[in-house]
Amino acid sequence: MKDLLAQCSVPRPADTQTVRELLVQVPAPTVQAIKHVIAVDGSFREAVVRDDFPSATITFFAFGPLIFSLKDLRQLDRETFIAPEDLAKLKKIQRFQLALPTRNISRAGLGLQESLRLTLHEFLARDIEGAKSLYDALHWLLFRRWTNTPGVSRTLRHCPNRDINGCERKEIVLTAETPYRSECGNCGGPIYLVDVLRLHELVDEEQGASPVTPYLLSALETLALVQVIQTLWELAKPTLLREFLFIKDGPLALFGQVFTLTDPLRDLANFLGSYRDPADQSKVLPLLNIVGLEKSGSFVEHAMHIEKSLDRELSEIRTKDSFTGVVLPLSSKYIYKYVVPGDPGGTITYGENTYWGGKMIFKAKDGSTYVATVPTFGGHKSAPKFEDYINLADVLAGVSELRCSMYDNALIPVALANRLVSLSEVPSSRILENFARGAILK
Ligand SMILES: [Zn+2]
Repeated sequence: MKDLLAQCSVPRPADTQTVRELLVQVPAPTVQAIKHVIAVDGSFREAVVRDDFPSATITFFAFGPLIFSLKDLRQLDRETFIAPEDLAKLKKIQRFQLALPTRNISRAGLGLQESLRLTLHEFLARDIEGAKSLYDALHWLLFRRWTNTPGVSRTLRHCPNRDINGCERKEIVLTAETPYRSECGNCGGPIYLVDVLRLHELVDEEQGASPVTPYLLSALETLALVQVIQTLWELAKPTLLREFLFIKDGPLALFGQVFTLTDPLRDLANFLGSYRDPADQSKVLPLLNIVGLEKSGSFVEHAMHIEKSLDRELSEIRTKDSFTGVVLPLSSKYIYKYVVPGDPGGTITYGENTYWGGKMIFKAKDGSTYVATVPTFGGHKSAPKFEDYINLADVLAGVSELRCSMYDNALIPVALANRLVSLSEVPSSRILENFARGAILK
């Protein structure tokens, strides 16, 4: 252990001087275009299906976007406690619920991997009342349907049925014209659009599909967000998008197998961010206000460490209406030096494959600190500057309004959303477990 520790290093807090040099004062927007907030949040919980078979489990997912207006939020902020009626102000746009076989249980005649693929396929293809399916959002995203660029395709490296029937077909190309379910020309097995997420590759028939769940949840939350953006974009007036602030719990990043969604998400952000004003084509009218907010992890710890340095800078602008707060844009070099272990001089920059935005630490005038991700113009940037982030002044002004003293450093919409959708609380999980047992035992 001593030998190992001698070879290890832990990140160290950044010194005051470094932080001061990098800090930027955030100007308040002249007119705040943002009127509504849409927060997406979700959770999952694994449930045992039968007492005498504790190894057989199903995982339940619940997720979806919530919408509320900043006006209602300001009102809510003035109240000393939140009454249940107030929760009604958070309107659920859509609640998605998914039950997925994850261990020692599978659909009739199928292995676990096939069961998982089929269940995901059916879930995403399901028609939603008054809206398109989640598959439509995935399709829109993967094939960049916002631009009508022909020839956009996705390639599966192997036939997804390889583990079941040994099919050796490689490089299967999916295009916008490929149906959600097609057949492999070699083995005849099904090919689903959801196979592009490659989640089935993490399934082990005996060990189960638990490794899939965190990646799947983040992909589903992202899709729910994309679906709302798509819906607003396809409305007659795309400039409406400017009135919305989208919030994702956690960073704007996709880890594990599903990281392949990062590229289309960067393209989408860049496309909407570079939108030309229909009234004056020479003017850029960025349409996207989106932020990922973190509540735990090494970045949050780091933010706490440099709190004093931020406070010093904040005191200079605290009384000025023309500023929202101070922000520290985080470069790859800074992150590897002070936040997470890595090589600051390395060729792979932080988040190059996983993030669809740049990170920052933002301290609002009221004293609350946020670790945030906001997409940057032109894709990934290793050392983003203030103006590289899409609509940053507007987004941070919106974020600073979300603060609610009841939840220390927790965002009110995310905290409320957590409560509304949480599957971890006793009553709801009991119901789900009983439901699962009842349904299987019958
Ligand atoms: Zn095949």
